[in-house]
Amino acid sequence: MLKINELKKVFRTEEIETMALGGVSLHVTEGEFIAIMGPSGCGKSTLLNILGLLDNPTSGKYFLNGIEVGHLKEKQRTDMRKGNIGFIFQSFNLIEEMNVFENVELPLVYMKVKASERKKRVEETLRRMNISHRATHFPNQLSGGQQQRVAIARAVVANPKMILADEPTGNLDSKNGKDVMDLLSELNREGTTIVMVTHSQHDASFSHRVINLFDGQIIGIEKKIGILA
Ligand code: ADP
Repeated sequence: MLKINELKKVFRTEEIETMALGGVSLHVTEGEFIAIMGPSGCGKSTLLNILGLLDNPTSGKYFLNGIEVGHLKEKQRTDMRKGNIGFIFQSFNLIEEMNVFENVELPLVYMKVKASERKKRVEETLRRMNISHRATHFPNQLSGGQQQRVAIARAVVANPKMILADEPTGNLDSKNGKDVMDLLSELNREGTTIVMVTHSQHDASFSHRVINLFDGQIIGIEKKIGILA
């Protein structure tokens, strides 16, 4: 599914240079559920952003389904993301001016799916996420748990092969966090590859492998027996 070789990422400002990733190599197979853990500032989000084609590495190779995608131009990255990669963020990142239906519909609009098909797929996905009754509500009228369910709906509406999640339960209480992890686990069992950054050992227990990052390097890979997965 994805393979990275010696990925490095250096952020340069006028005064300082930060080596956020110092040569990371990893192979994720289709259908795997990977958790990335490590202390704040160790490079987790940087890695996830590169895997999600939101950013390019400074050097190294990234193969997604056999294609080298590590050094694409922004427009090519955007095209490659569409329908292939779904994102979930800690802060939900919903568009406040759009209602639930419109937020979830957005990826399909970008993909130029026709309106009748969009309606069908959005309604199906909202049902699945148990949030249909909120279709005309705006994000600020929803609880955190509901907002994250909408964000998951938006991430999966285009049926991506891979979901990237950056601390998806970080802003939720334990009940809503559990619901979100149950949803991710179910999507994974149906074949979606998931790469998730988390601080939570509980959330990591849903994964097949935990990648421990420290100071921009992988310092250990822990296999999970999948007690919950
Ligand atoms: P984590 O997600 O593990 O908390 P990050 O990937 O956000 O860590 O950051 C890794 C390092 O790179 C940190 O030292 C951070 O300050 C730095 N960094 C991240 N993004 C940028 C950026 N856009 N510009 C400069 N430095 C950055």
